Amino acid sequence: MQKERVVIIGSGPAGLSAAIYIARATLNPLVLTGTQLGGQISLTSEVENYPGLFNPEATPTGPEMVEIMQKQAAHFGARYAYEDVTEVNLKDGPPFTIKTHANTYQADAVIVSAGASPKHLGVPGETEFVGRGVSYCGTCDGFFFRGKEVVVVGGGDSALEESIFLTKFATKVTIVHRRDELRAGAALQNRAFANEKIHFIWDTVIESIEGDGLVNCVQLHNLKTGERYEMAADGVFVFIGHYPNSQFLIGQLAMDEHGYVITDEFMRTSVTGVYAAGEIQDPHYRQIATSVGQGVAAAMQLERWLSAQEG
Ligand code: NAP
Repeated sequence: MQKERVVIIGSGPAGLSAAIYIARATLNPLVLTGTQLGGQISLTSEVENYPGLFNPEATPTGPEMVEIMQKQAAHFGARYAYEDVTEVNLKDGPPFTIKTHANTYQADAVIVSAGASPKHLGVPGETEFVGRGVSYCGTCDGFFFRGKEVVVVGGGDSALEESIFLTKFATKVTIVHRRDELRAGAALQNRAFANEKIHFIWDTVIESIEGDGLVNCVQLHNLKTGERYEMAADGVFVFIGHYPNSQFLIGQLAMDEHGYVITDEFMRTSVTGVYAAGEIQDPHYRQIATSVGQGVAAAMQLERWLSAQEG
């Protein structure tokens, strides 16, 4: 059993920002990074909207931001264990117990910032063709679709941002959206509409993904006309939202009906001494900037609570 003062679960913008503040408060936090250091932004190609980092000549990438934040927290004393949390006992603490495949930790205080994961469509062929044409990450897999035609599902910021990115590789990107109006913000809509490689199919859902070893077509269903038809495609990119990575917290922290950890305005969870920040507790904003702010707030509250405990 390794004893720690503060354990931070997750290494996205919320976790790393919390780590910077906790480390600067000389509390020497341990960050359990999970399998994806940096979380979702490590899969993000360009970050255009983070205040203070604007550079139109060389837009910073997600991995670059992760590297800076990670080094910044380490500089002040944060430590990292590249482990995935499998089990926790929070409700009987403090001290709180956190298990990974490799270790068991005991902590005086915890910040939960394990983020969120992409939702799946749940149609036939989707799981079967993951890595063989079906993807949830343009930055990771776009390169494999050089000179090919791909379908993107979704009408939000992610779908449009990733579609624009995919036009660097694909000859044609067809966005299939279930309504006739996009959810994405105006700036991204304008960029997508202006891009000659991007096409739209409205009021339509994918009913199945098919292929022969690799994806070669999708079956579409127009929800307004009822028409069903096949469309050739080399790849299917799904960007239809996220779910919180809170399965390991079931029975430990209060959550809403979608699994988001419930926090108050001080980032406190239902267990005293346990704070949550970022997308595991935020279904609304889901921005790097908001996750950073929540991580900082959680760290400041934790530090105040811990020093009050220790007198
Ligand atoms: P989102 O805003 O929830 O959009 C999800 C999209 O997928 C919606 O258009 C939705 O359709 C569609 N959808 C959901 N379930 C579906 C299903 N089963 N089948 C077909 N379509 C389905 O998710 P997001 O685009 O990932 O964005 C999440 C948050 O992150 C947002 O707050 C967004 O602003 C933010 N974000 C910001 C940026 C940026 O600022 N650059 C980039 C990425 C994400 P309906 O519209 O019909 O519901």
